[in-house]
Amino acid sequence: MQLFRFLLSLTLFGLFASLHAQNPGADHGNKFEQLGTLITPPNSYHAWDGAPGPDYWQQRADYEIDCTLNTEEQRLDGSEWITYYNHSPQPLRYLWLQLDENQHSPKNDNQYFDPSSIKPVMSEYELKALETWRGRDKYGVNIEAVADENGQALEYTINQTMMRVELPETLGPGEHFRFRVDWHYYIVDRVYLNHLLEATGNAATLPRGGYEYFPEDDNYLYTITQWYPRLCAYTDFGGWQNNQFTGRGEFALTFGDYTVRITLPEDHMVGSTGACLNYVDVLTPKQLERWEAAQTADAPVEIVTLKEAKAQEKAKPAKKTQTWIYHANQVRDFAWTASRKFIWDAMPHSNSDGKRVMCMSYYPKEAYPIYSRYSTKAVAHTLKTYSKYSLPYPYPTAISVEASNGMEYPMICFNPGRAEPDGTYTEIAKKSAISVIIHEVGHNYYPMIINSDERQWAWFDEGLNTFVQFLAEREFDADYQSWAGPPHQITAYMSMPKGELEPIMTNSENIKDYFSNAYLKPATALNILRETIMGRELFDYAFREYGRRWAFKHPTPADFFRTMEDASGVDLDWFWRGWFYSTDYVDISLDSIKWYKVDLENDPESREITQPVRASKPFRDLSQIRNEEAGIVPADEEDPELQDFYSNYRPWETADSVTQQKIVIYDEPFSKKEKQQQFSDKNYYELHFSNKGGLVMPVIIQWTYEDGSTEIDRIPAQIWRKNESAFTKVFVREKQVKAIEIDPYRETADAGLSNNSWPLRQVPSRFQVFKKHKIESGINPMQRANGKYTDD
Ligand SMILES: [Zn+2]
Repeated sequence: MQLFRFLLSLTLFGLFASLHAQNPGADHGNKFEQLGTLITPPNSYHAWDGAPGPDYWQQRADYEIDCTLNTEEQRLDGSEWITYYNHSPQPLRYLWLQLDENQHSPKNDNQYFDPSSIKPVMSEYELKALETWRGRDKYGVNIEAVADENGQALEYTINQTMMRVELPETLGPGEHFRFRVDWHYYIVDRVYLNHLLEATGNAATLPRGGYEYFPEDDNYLYTITQWYPRLCAYTDFGGWQNNQFTGRGEFALTFGDYTVRITLPEDHMVGSTGACLNYVDVLTPKQLERWEAAQTADAPVEIVTLKEAKAQEKAKPAKKTQTWIYHANQVRDFAWTASRKFIWDAMPHSNSDGKRVMCMSYYPKEAYPIYSRYSTKAVAHTLKTYSKYSLPYPYPTAISVEASNGMEYPMICFNPGRAEPDGTYTEIAKKSAISVIIHEVGHNYYPMIINSDERQWAWFDEGLNTFVQFLAEREFDADYQSWAGPPHQITAYMSMPKGELEPIMTNSENIKDYFSNAYLKPATALNILRETIMGRELFDYAFREYGRRWAFKHPTPADFFRTMEDASGVDLDWFWRGWFYSTDYVDISLDSIKWYKVDLENDPESREITQPVRASKPFRDLSQIRNEEAGIVPADEEDPELQDFYSNYRPWETADSVTQQKIVIYDEPFSKKEKQQQFSDKNYYELHFSNKGGLVMPVIIQWTYEDGSTEIDRIPAQIWRKNESAFTKVFVREKQVKAIEIDPYRETADAGLSNNSWPLRQVPSRFQVFKKHKIESGINPMQRANGKYTDD
């Protein structure tokens, strides 16, 4: 007890002494504090360790949909039965459905969400985008009927892209309700809306589904997405999801089982979420035979060949219709595609759990050169690698459709990948097709299986998916030029002026640079976490555990953050704070190096010394010196708009005041012989670092010795925990150092490379040593208590 009290008083004193001695400025921020209230508190639904809690629940909605595609009028008519299961502990008086096609209706006000202005020269599409909604009254969902099982009409209210349906009776916990919705809508021209999007950058017209018209052969390619009124997500963390669909923030959805019957002209080929239940009715005997052969093939088998597709697209349109029937279990959405132009190939993938998954591609002849070679193989490769980093692929099919744009749905996704008209293609076109295929197929995991709320958090599926995409690409080709992953690729974005940035933890609708913020930065952060901070073994275990815990459930970012720490035993709060909750960037500067040798000759005359005092010449930091040597004119001198580039730039601070405080009285000198034996070959390098970007990160130091050999030191980020802006650290080396480089592998996203290296040429300073010493002041008593210093 007494000892404890004594230690406690030492500790308190030590804490203050240490703060005073080492942190004279206001450099001690909160970068290493726990997330505290920044993160959603745990509860019995989302537990303290990041797993689903003991009372976890989620809703369920099953669908049985009949729809008819009218290829003359570009209209889709549907009738659906929905069974909604209330698994929540809360009674419900109404249900909310999403009417996403109302994105394209003038009744929606998303066209007012983005500013616009007149420019001196404007394109046709820029002008059209100023009145996007003119003449577009027919678009959006037309609700024809909402009724219960007895045919009794149900009251409903449409609020832009959502519809509230009144329940005849309160739906209690554990109860379910079956009702019908009849509807139709006119399909939008995806290509036209894409032109508007490209002209303005506003997501209001962003077409995730619709038709593409091919004037050369008078055919259509349909991608039918967000097409049926479907339940909004109702969760323990948000109640009914009530952020309208503006075109930007993606989807929050409920799992369920689907049976979908698609009726359309018999000359159309269909690809869809789910397993087709009646190929025997809709395929020709020859196609059926090829489909059977594909089940055991070791390369893609063309079920509809290029030749057949070319003949079909020229044939007279069929009048007769047929119905394709699909069934899917445990999916959060359902999408399909149809065209007379499709080539269709398939091959099996042997899943890590032993099950067979049919990997398939549908594409028009325009994409044949790239798609026939790469698409289905890229699909299989995606399943193989994603399974490794999460869980075995749980669905029977995985489909890549070439539709000149990218968007993901369960088991099916739409990607670009056309060749030049002469059938040639560039390496870039090929790689970008493969990248998008891996990305969109990868979305089967994030967010289709690991069902996050995309409307709230774009990064939560895009970032995780882009990260695993990077792993998959590196495993596709060792030199793959990925969108994201290599840390040096993100530095330009992260070091932009703060006014252009927002933290990753920002709602999907409010992000300026969507791609950089929600895809590239989080993917890079996870790569750094894996390679530099945690190591592959700890990271991969925790990342897989996250997938295992939340497959077919609704995770929140807090569940991810907690699981990564809980399963790895690594406290990462500082990392989430810096990378996910701040707009800091990484720029660690090696400001100065001092080289010391022990003074072997002179014994002390005086018992009282101070640490060497730094030369008082005006200091210029290394990047300035290096730039000046190279004759580089800083960009901000040429472009005044860049002058606030380093908005949080901290001028270099001397540490002189700190070192001069330490007055040490030494007792017993070493003999000359002892000094010779112990210190003659020791070099002491005192490195001074400052944090110019604000983001605290590990400091990776590469030493190059006079004999040409190299060595790496890895200083954990915690070096910054008491002073987030600067630290000095001494390294003892027997070999003489020729050069020092910080972050030699460019693994920390350090944006300022000019202050990362230092060739060492100066003559060393010398300092004196003593055997035992008594501390008068300046040394923290806690250090004595810890035995670092002896006190006689
Ligand atoms: Zn994506």
